[in-house]
Amino acid sequence: MTAPLFSLEVFPPKRNAPVGTIYDTLDGLEGLKPAFISVTYGTGKLKDRTATARIANTIRAEYHIPAVAHLTAQYLDKEAVDEALDMFAAAKVEGVLALRGDKVEGQEPAGVFDHASDLVSYIRATRPEFKVYGACYPEGHPQAPSFQADIDNLKRKVDAGATHLISQLFYDNEDFYRFLDAARAAGIDVPIEAGIMPVTNEKSVRRMAAMCSSRVPESLERILNKWGYDSYALTDAGINYASAQISELLAHGVNGIHLYSMNKPAVTRRIWRNVEVLFRS
Ligand code: FAD
Repeated sequence: MTAPLFSLEVFPPKRNAPVGTIYDTLDGLEGLKPAFISVTYGTGKLKDRTATARIANTIRAEYHIPAVAHLTAQYLDKEAVDEALDMFAAAKVEGVLALRGDKVEGQEPAGVFDHASDLVSYIRATRPEFKVYGACYPEGHPQAPSFQADIDNLKRKVDAGATHLISQLFYDNEDFYRFLDAARAAGIDVPIEAGIMPVTNEKSVRRMAAMCSSRVPESLERILNKWGYDSYALTDAGINYASAQISELLAHGVNGIHLYSMNKPAVTRRIWRNVEVLFRS
């Protein structure tokens, strides 16, 4: 059996944040040696379409870690997608996480890449140098008519050429196992990494859970009720919660863990310290 993967996600600094903050994040992650670091991509009409490629390039060239660039395509035409892919090629990324992206109020999709699978096929056909990643949803995508319909659509994405899946965050491992069983039963046989987002702030948990239709199980609800007002205590409890989730997932034999670093390297490091040995045994 191959060893489970450990990978991380970072995002480009917000527009009003100093540009150097991404260096603070990456410096803080130094020594963790993830299999790759993925960099998110904004959606809709972006002011700066170069941020993902620039940060991916920095990760590869200055930190010597393979980089994966996210790309959301429903608001892009072919020319814009080609432009983004050219930038990713220049940054020598290892792969592209091909995404549809969320709807943006008041903006009309370009009508070229309506589903992530359209982008997967396009990259597969035009850029053989990239590994193509796809997103998946342990509790079903919020817009899917049913859990099974979402699995069927995921199979289309894999058939189109996605060779590695990364999951949405989830707070109850049982939801991930149910999804894994359904995906394997549907013939989806590519590696599926479990996406873990550490809890550090009650408001953001509530917002993310609502946005992603993720269930907050009773055990986490108790933590939020007890320490939601105290960010230090909640961060500690959140680190323990994420570490326990990861330990259990590794014991179950998952293919890998994708940790949403949220550009908080201190939290990421503490979780890594708790689980590092488990990736080796
Ligand atoms: P799709 O795979 O296209 O699925 C979207 C919906 O369409 C689902 O309900 C699916 O069942 C349905 N569907 C798919 N194919 C078909 C078909 N052929 N016919 C009918 N229905 C279909 N957002 C960002 O803006 N930037 C990021 O960097 C980013 N990174 C992410 C990373 C991960 C690991 C994950 C899990 C999500 C990320 N997102 C990001 C959020 C993502 O953009 C949203 O969840 C979005 O709503 C769906 O994108 P998708 O690529 O999964 O879409």
